[in-house]
Amino acid sequence: VNPVFADLPTTVFETMSALARQHGAINLGQGFPDDPGPDDIRAVAARALVEGDNQYPPMMGLPALREAVAAHYARHQGLALDPASEVMVTSGATEALAGALLALVRPGDEVVLFAPMYDAYLPLVRRAGGVPRIVNLQPPGFRLDAAALAAVFNERTSVVLLNNPLNPSATLFGRDDLEVLAGFCRRFEVTAICDEVWEHVVFDGAAHVPLMGLPGMRERTVKIGSAGKIFSLTGWKVGFVMADAALMRVLAKAHQFLTFTTPPNLQAAVAHGLAKEDDYFRTMRAGYARSRDRLATGLGALGYRVLPAGATWFLNVDIGAQGRTDDVAFCEHLVRRHGVAAIPVSAFYPDGSVRSLVRLCFAKSDATLDAALERMADAM
Ligand code: PMP
Ligand code: GLN
Repeated sequence: VNPVFADLPTTVFETMSALARQHGAINLGQGFPDDPGPDDIRAVAARALVEGDNQYPPMMGLPALREAVAAHYARHQGLALDPASEVMVTSGATEALAGALLALVRPGDEVVLFAPMYDAYLPLVRRAGGVPRIVNLQPPGFRLDAAALAAVFNERTSVVLLNNPLNPSATLFGRDDLEVLAGFCRRFEVTAICDEVWEHVVFDGAAHVPLMGLPGMRERTVKIGSAGKIFSLTGWKVGFVMADAALMRVLAKAHQFLTFTTPPNLQAAVAHGLAKEDDYFRTMRAGYARSRDRLATGLGALGYRVLPAGATWFLNVDIGAQGRTDDVAFCEHLVRRHGVAAIPVSAFYPDGSVRSLVRLCFAKSDATLDAALERMADAM
């Protein structure tokens, strides 16, 4: 067996969801909404399943979906993508990430990563033979800093992997942050993989800026999106990859032997969803912002120190403010004794250096959030 995987623990999301089931806890750990998702999109999927073609769709994705993806990003982010050569459908952002790393990293290449990082990244980089160079971003701001980047970028760097907006810290990197990173990519001729699955879940009037849109980045950025996050349908695993045609030819070679295709009925339904009016996206964001504020206000009233959350479905509380120094122990205590599951943020720092933060998912009904708050009242 390969040691990269043999020595890995089970992902924290699965572990915490299992503990939540075992203890009958309210699950604010793994990120998923508790509503069923848009009716019309699910109806299109159901109809296409029963009445449509269920054999292999084209390897690059249904033409209707690739066209919808290109039109969507032109409308929302000002990107000009050729649906025939610059858009590919994958089975979730997870496949897109795995494929991009397999296709772009040569053994011995250095890969720049930022912690906190989504837990899939590091094992995939290692399995691809990459040498990780990790920049730890520090709470509460989690900003990108030129000096820290200068310490890791060099002639051996081939890829940088950025998640924007950033899960778990709920940070939205704006144009200034991205410009700093883009400068290093241009100088060292580095390809950027930008995991933008949270691009639509941004709050307080902010707008997501795609790294691909910055000067000099069009040809060197692989942009990754996920219908799971855009439409609150996390179980669907429909992702998309956007890249310049030359890069895409290589990415397609990884995709053809990872999954090859993705269920056609789900692709048809996502194509329908991407054409939704702006109002859908505004309403979705406003709904999540209300839930964020409800949980943040409730936690604040209980004495928890809540970090700002500009994007995603997650809030972080700083348990260090109450003198606690072990996020894993606190999450175990919270799920076993108080019946609320959360995620210890140290799982996102490979060196385990930040142990004071706990992530809570607020993509839940008011009743669920209120019940969780009641249970957390005397947990600290
Ligand atoms: N990247 C990030 C940052 C995520 O948060 C997630 C899922 N929550 C994924 C990738 C995986 O997306 P998918 O379910 O589409 O594979
Ligand atoms: N991305 C989700 C989260 O951050 C979980 C995905 C998973 O369970 N692998 O909670």
